[in-house]
Amino acid sequence: MSEVTRFAPSPTGWLHLGHAYAAIFAHERARRVGGRFFLRMEDIDASRVRPEYYDAVYEDLRWLGLDWDEEVTPQLQRMDAYRDALAQLDALGVLYPCFCTRREIREEIAAMPSAPHGPDGAHYPGTCRQLSADDRAARMAVTAEDLVSWRLDMAKAVDLAGELRWVDRARGEQVARPEMFGDVILARKDAGTSYHLSVVVDDAAQGVTLVTRGEDLFESTHIHRLLQQLLGLPVPEWEHHRLICDESGKRLAKRDDARSIRSLREAGMSAEDVRGKLGL
Ligand code: GLU
Repeated sequence: MSEVTRFAPSPTGWLHLGHAYAAIFAHERARRVGGRFFLRMEDIDASRVRPEYYDAVYEDLRWLGLDWDEEVTPQLQRMDAYRDALAQLDALGVLYPCFCTRREIREEIAAMPSAPHGPDGAHYPGTCRQLSADDRAARMAVTAEDLVSWRLDMAKAVDLAGELRWVDRARGEQVARPEMFGDVILARKDAGTSYHLSVVVDDAAQGVTLVTRGEDLFESTHIHRLLQQLLGLPVPEWEHHRLICDESGKRLAKRDDARSIRSLREAGMSAEDVRGKLGL
């Protein structure tokens, strides 16, 4: 089977060793079977992206010896596709607008005797899910579009989708348990979309057959599998890989400039040295 994989960094900082590992991993999974490898810019965080980081991604990946197929489509240019997907979910009755501020949500949760928690922390308490149709329409009429986020009614969505499974090539078959996240946001106030929605829409549009990414995103896949089902999209397989940590066992972050690919290069390391350091 020919494989299609992708590497999807956010151009919000310099790439570091963790990105190098993820990129080489995805590239290798495709190229070893003569498959295709795409590069995607996850740039929906418009306030955090900077033009120089896009160029740095290209430069660093080339230096690492990686090549990619087709032109890169930044997610910021794919907003129509995300809007269509949202409309499709809305038509299924599994979306609702949420007017809450972060602070209101925090206060609501603090006032609850016990709040369910998931991988991303406390579940949204469901305040806006419980609005009547009239109240919802009244709030919509007086609220600016960019102050409304759209949430998935998780219980309804799971009911509609039924039992789902997905395959992680390293860990085997999984039963999807998206309900552990509660009512996730699919369109953020500030972005009009979200990581979960965009990644699912883009993976389908690019015909990705194997989604590779770090283990920190393993749980998110439960949500992605559900969205694929609701949107009628093809289901890829996944392979979540280890994360690269510093000497103290802490996962590398964008602010660790000392471990950025460019600083290693400037310090005289070769691409081969970097691969060696990563055990590749
Ligand atoms: N942008 C994500 C990251 O840098 C990748 C998400 C994905 O591959 O689905 O970890």
